[in-house]
Amino acid sequence: MKPVDAVIIGYGWTGAIMAKELTDAGLSVLVLERGPERDTAPDFEYPRIADELKYAVRGDLWQPLAGETVTIRHKPGEIAVPYRQYGSFILGNGTGGAGAHWNGQQWRASPNDLRIRSVYEERYGKKFIPDDMSIQDYGISYEELEPYFDHFEKVTGVAGTAGGNPFEGKRSNPFPQQPMPPILSSQLFAKAARELGYQPFPVPAANSTAAYTNPYGVRMGPCNLCGYCEGFGCFLYSKAAPQTTIIPVLKGRSNLQVRHNSYVTRILLDSSGKLATGVRYIDANGKQVDQPAAMVVLASFQMNNVRMLLLSGIGKPYDPVTGKGVVGKNYAYQMVSSSTAFFDESVNMNPFIGAGAAGQQAIDDYNADHFDHGKHGFVGGAMIFAGATGGRPIVQMPLPPDAPRWGSGWKSAVRKHYAHSSSVATMGSVMSYRDRYLDLDPTYRDAHGVPLLRMTFDWHPNEYKMTAFTSARAGEIVSAMKPQRMSQHILKPGDSYDVRVYQSTHNTGGAIIGTNPSNSVLNRYSQCWDVPNVFVFGASSFPQNIGYNPTGLVAALTYFAAAKIRSTYLKTGGALVHA
Ligand SMILES: Cc1cc2nc3c(=O)[nH]c(=O)nc-3n(C[C@H](O)[C@H](O)[C@H](O)COP(=O)(O)OP(=O)(O)OC[C@H]3O[C@@H](n4cnc5c(N)ncnc54)[C@H](O)[C@@H]3O)c2cc1C
Ligand code: SF4
Repeated sequence: MKPVDAVIIGYGWTGAIMAKELTDAGLSVLVLERGPERDTAPDFEYPRIADELKYAVRGDLWQPLAGETVTIRHKPGEIAVPYRQYGSFILGNGTGGAGAHWNGQQWRASPNDLRIRSVYEERYGKKFIPDDMSIQDYGISYEELEPYFDHFEKVTGVAGTAGGNPFEGKRSNPFPQQPMPPILSSQLFAKAARELGYQPFPVPAANSTAAYTNPYGVRMGPCNLCGYCEGFGCFLYSKAAPQTTIIPVLKGRSNLQVRHNSYVTRILLDSSGKLATGVRYIDANGKQVDQPAAMVVLASFQMNNVRMLLLSGIGKPYDPVTGKGVVGKNYAYQMVSSSTAFFDESVNMNPFIGAGAAGQQAIDDYNADHFDHGKHGFVGGAMIFAGATGGRPIVQMPLPPDAPRWGSGWKSAVRKHYAHSSSVATMGSVMSYRDRYLDLDPTYRDAHGVPLLRMTFDWHPNEYKMTAFTSARAGEIVSAMKPQRMSQHILKPGDSYDVRVYQSTHNTGGAIIGTNPSNSVLNRYSQCWDVPNVFVFGASSFPQNIGYNPTGLVAALTYFAAAKIRSTYLKTGGALVHA
C-alpha cells in the first residue's frame, strides 16, 4: 500500500473534523471507516427514513452487534457478558458515525467542569471528594477552548440565545442562529420554571432554524420538527451531521481517500514501540491490509478508541488493584431521570411535533458547580430539560406506571394519554472511580477473532445522591405545570446499572487527557504520551462525565488539538508537551 501522511480511523464527527483540518493543511489523508457510505440522498430520503421499526428499533444505522460488541459486568470478579441487543447506549456505524443519528443538543462544558478537582477542593475542602473518586482536571481552560466551541457552533449552525443560560462560560459571539420557538411541552416547562424563580432558556440546538450557510459554504435547511431525529438521519439537511456540514467540502479533494467497510484491528508500531507506522485493517473483501502512515488519528468513538489502544499495545493498561496504568482508566457514564406529566384532554401536546433539540427548554441551576454542594454532600449535577423528540408509535408513548402493558386496557391508556403527556428529563454527570474501567475481555472475541472490550461499571452512592436531588427539583417543576398526575423514573440505591434500558450514548473516559503520563493517556493536544504520532479524539478523553451532552466538548477538544497540530506538530513532529 502506498504510504499516506495521515490515516484516520472512523468517519464520524471527530474523523470528519480531522479529515478537513489535515487536508486543508495539505496532507495526504486516508480515512478508514468500518461501516458503509451514507449520505442524506439517497440513504435518509423521505418517506423511507420515517420507519421507526427499521431505524429506532432494529437500528439499521447502528453498529451491528453480532459482529462486534462490548462485554459488560458490574464489578471486578464477575464474568462479563456481551451486549447483544441495543439498550443502554447506541454505537454509530458508517459515514457520520453516531453523529448521523444523534439529536443535536450542542452544549459547551461549564468552565468548572474542566477543573473539577481544583474547584471542589478549593470550595469544599479536599475531604469532600471521596477517596475512591478519581476525578481530575483537564489541564485545559475554558478560555483556551472557547474559540473552538464557537467555531463548532458556526460549523453546525447552532440555534440558541446568548446569555440565556446564566451559568454558561463567557462567549465571544452569539449563537449563529436564533432558537426555534418552544413547543408546547417546553412552554409549559418554561412557565413553571419561571414561576419557581429559575431562568429557563432554549437548549442549544444543532437542528437548523432557518436556511443557513456554515463557514465552509455548506448549506442547511430549516428543521420542520418532523419527530424523526433521534436514531434517524435527517432528510431535510437540517440536523447538523458530518454529512450535512463538513463532508460535502471534502468530496473531490485529491489529497483525501475514504475507504468504507474497512475495519481497523490495530495500530502498527515500530520495534521501539514508540512510533506508529500505520494501521492494519480488514477490507470490504475480508482481506487483511497493512496501510503505512506517518501519523495515525484515532477517531472511532469512545469505546472503540480505548479498545484500539489496548489491542495495539499503546500506553500501559490500567490495573484497578494497584491503581497503576492509564489505558481504560476513568470510564464514566451519565445518570438520567425522567418526570412525566399527564394532563387532562384539554391540554393537547401534539406529541408528533418534535426534534432532537429544537424547541426544547432547559435550566442549568443544578449542574456542574452552579450551586452550593456543601450541604448536599455529592459531586456533580444535572441539566434539566423539556421538549419532545417526537411521538412515534412504537417507543414514544409515555404511560403512567400502573397502566396495563398490553391488550384493550393498554389501548385505552394510550388513547387517554398519548396526546396529553410531556416529560422533563435530567442529564446527570457521573464521576470516575478506581473500580470503574475498561479492559480487554479474556473470553469473548469479535467476528474476526479479535478480543472485545470489557466494561466494568455500576453506579456509586455519589450519583444516587446527585439524581435524588436534581430529580426532586425536576419533579417540583413538573408539579408546577399542574398536571392531573405525574410519574417519575429515578434510580435509587440498590438499582444496578441496567444495560437493557436506553440512557444515553454519552460514554466517557478510558483514554483520558491529563497533565502527565502517570495520570493520563493523552496530553492536552490529544496526543498519546507514549506514541506521539498517534492522536485520539472523542469522549474517551474526558477524565469524568459532565451533566451535558458531550459532542460540543468533544469537537472543541478536537479543533483545539488540530490547531496545534497544524501550527507546530506538522513542522516539528514529536511530543507537543514534555512531561
Ligand atoms: C441516539 C443518539 C443521540 C445523541 N444525541 C446527542 C446530542 O443531542 N448531543 C450530543 O452532544 N451528543 C449526542 N450523541 C452523542 C454523539 O453522537 C457522539 O458524541 C458523537 O457522535 C461522537 O463523535 P465521535 O467522532 O467520537 O464518534 P462517532 O461519531 O460515533 O464516529 C466514530 C466512527 O468510527 C467508526 N469506527 C469505529 N471503530 C472502527 C474501526 N475499528 N475501524 C474503522 N472505523 C471504525 C464508526 O463506525 C463510526 O462511524 C448522541 C448519540 C446517539 C447514539
Ligand atoms: S426533527 Fe428536524 S433536524 Fe430532526 S430529523 Fe426532523 S427535520 Fe431533521
